[in-house]
Amino acid sequence: MKMLEIKNLHAKIDGKEILRGINLTVNAGEVHAIMGPNGAGKSTLSNVLTGREGYEITQGEVIYKGENLLELEPEERARRGVFLAFQYPVEIPGVSNIYLLKAALNAVRKHQGLEELDAIDFLTLVRSKMQLVKMDEQFLHRSVNEGFSGGEKKRNEILQMALLEPELAILDETDSGLDIDALRTVSEGVNALRNSDRSIVMITHYQRLLDYIVPDYVHVLSEGRIVKSGDKELAKELEKSGYSWVHDAPEPEG
Ligand code: ADP
Ligand code: MG
Ligand code: MG
Repeated sequence: MKMLEIKNLHAKIDGKEILRGINLTVNAGEVHAIMGPNGAGKSTLSNVLTGREGYEITQGEVIYKGENLLELEPEERARRGVFLAFQYPVEIPGVSNIYLLKAALNAVRKHQGLEELDAIDFLTLVRSKMQLVKMDEQFLHRSVNEGFSGGEKKRNEILQMALLEPELAILDETDSGLDIDALRTVSEGVNALRNSDRSIVMITHYQRLLDYIVPDYVHVLSEGRIVKSGDKELAKELEKSGYSWVHDAPEPEG
């Protein structure tokens, strides 16, 4: 089944064209890595997919499970099973982590026609998911991401993902700011969520994440276009030779 189809997507920020004709198809169960140099448009792509404000789509379309994703409000996308982990997770002072997690999960459950979980059932569920990312329970009662270290924020993102069980997860720079233990834990968390119904798009500048989460496909984004696609071996080539050689590839049509 096709989970996500991006067709000739063009997007602008502040009048400047950042995405210049992205084409990508992600089937259910696949893990795709999108790599590329700084400023290539990787975060722009993930922000456009999740509906962050400030981007103007000038051409193209994005189909998620047969629906026009770009017409849906961000909350609506989330309710339908799209999950975005931010490159820099936001802090929300005064809102406890457990409150936010429960609200997010119940919104998705409502969309699925399921009953809201009560406090006790929710706590049982969240505790089981916390073991997956080796997070201490005290993090439930702290304000969202406030005073969390880089590694703790990333674990918290993976916890959210484990809880929401999205159909399509978009992870932007999941490895940034992680020491090797946290990287391993986060990767184990992501790997535990891999299944034949779920698709993951991992956006990363670095190859090392892909040693832990082995993708089915690797794409190189450069100057707003996918200039090269391959399998995990492509990531290894990039690690060796950097990104400069991909510019020699002919410009794709569209
Ligand atoms: P990447 O994630 O690949 O490093 P980004 O998508 O963050 O790249 O950025 C792509 C390009 O868009 C960069 O040239 C960046 O400076 C520019 N850009 C990103 N956000 C904005 C913004 N809010 N206003 C203007 N330019 C932006
Ligand atoms: Mg960047
Ligand atoms: Mg980025």
